[in-house]
Amino acid sequence: MTAYLVGAGPGDAGLMTARSLELIARADVILYDRLIPDGALDGARADTELIDVGKIGGGAQVPQETTDELLLRHARAGREVVRLKGGDPFVFGRGGEEAQLLRAAGLDFEVVPGVTAGVAAPAYAGIPVTQRGVSAAVAFVTGHEDPSKPDTQIDWPALAAFPGTLVFYMGVRRLDRIASQLVAGGRAGSEPVAVVQRGTFPDQRTVTGTLADIAARAQEAGVKAPAITVVGAVAGLHDEIAWFGAGPLAGRSVAVTRARAQASPLAARLRALGARVVEAPAIRIAPLDATLPDLSDFDLLCVTSPNGARRLLELCHDARDLCGPAIAAIGPGTADALRAGGIEADIVPQRAVAESLVAALAERPLRRVLIARAEQARELLPDALRSRGADVEILALYRTVAEPLDERARETALGADYVTFTSASAVRFFVEAAGRPERSQIVSIGPITSAALREHGLMPDIEAAEHTPDGLVSALLANVAG
Ligand code: SAH
Repeated sequence: MTAYLVGAGPGDAGLMTARSLELIARADVILYDRLIPDGALDGARADTELIDVGKIGGGAQVPQETTDELLLRHARAGREVVRLKGGDPFVFGRGGEEAQLLRAAGLDFEVVPGVTAGVAAPAYAGIPVTQRGVSAAVAFVTGHEDPSKPDTQIDWPALAAFPGTLVFYMGVRRLDRIASQLVAGGRAGSEPVAVVQRGTFPDQRTVTGTLADIAARAQEAGVKAPAITVVGAVAGLHDEIAWFGAGPLAGRSVAVTRARAQASPLAARLRALGARVVEAPAIRIAPLDATLPDLSDFDLLCVTSPNGARRLLELCHDARDLCGPAIAAIGPGTADALRAGGIEADIVPQRAVAESLVAALAERPLRRVLIARAEQARELLPDALRSRGADVEILALYRTVAEPLDERARETALGADYVTFTSASAVRFFVEAAGRPERSQIVSIGPITSAALREHGLMPDIEAAEHTPDGLVSALLANVAG
């Protein structure tokens, strides 16, 4: 099997199928479209060739012939090629044509359906495309064609007479003509219509109206592509069923600046509370090659961050490698990361700062200590333990490096209502990559991060009492509740 025509879903990365993620992780080459979820390619291998066939340098669409040629060339070379498309590959995605092309060339392929925007965007707007007693059929229609052209492929009178919901793709620019053709064909001007822009994305929005006024309303609201237009009585259910973006953080945008690999749980938590999350990872965790020393002669192992815990566990051949010393985690988050690897820390201060760990170790006789941590870190812990006569060794496990932010991430992050910082290094790299947020409330995970913020000329407006991502979310919620 060499080629895969894969649907990436409508925008929310959580709607990608298990099969699509599996293939992305395995692919040698990924030819991807513009309309794929943020982070859809995060699971690709570092050496996978990623080719954007959606746009040329932010301008025109790559011609289909070029995409076809790339698809054939890589598939013929026996490479695993994923052709990743927004939504479903066979719904207005030219996936059928690409399948024909592969078949004609004698190449094997597999089709991985995706969640199509025409169902998902309405669903996220509280609109079921069919509903018992209201609509017993649904038609997917391209709105790309100019209905007034004589060579239109669409039989407008027949479509107007269709006994059910009409879902238009690609139609925002022609809303007025679509609506008037349907009314001319016999649909009532009072029939409900909903336009869902960027459905399932955090900034999804819905404009409702009727066939008579939807074009004017959408224009007034500045609706732009990508948008789905739903025509039919079901569109009227939006007011009753809308659910997406509800919650205590509804209507607020929150920027998450931590490394992409760690951002997801925090971002998911914020989204579940209704926030529009802007991911602006200014840092990346680069693992270092390290060798775990024989621990049998140490009496204490200190792990000072969740990243350190994960990297340490990676370096272990099995859990017995950690036999011998007592294990101290700097705080609950690090203890959780160790627990995920089957290791229960013996010492876990509630406040995840070095000062608390030093205090928690005050009564303990210490001879030889290993501190597993980032390459650059505060020296407070080693200094304090050395001053108590311990022989302290450092095991540097990873390094935090700058991650470039593109223009869009930078701007949306700087425009967010809240910008969250979960480490001093995230503060430094974010300010270097994006500058200082001027209009946002600044949310800090704890005192060390707050100190870094002040050093960079930023005042933390909110500081978490518990220095974990959950603690940060609680502090944010308390602030919103006033
Ligand atoms: N294969 C895709 C459709 C591609 S055509 C699918 O199955 O969803 C592109 C059109 O899809 C856009 O013009 C828009 O009408 C619609 N679309 C795609 N993603 C969308 C989204 N997140 N919200 C609203 N409409 C979307």
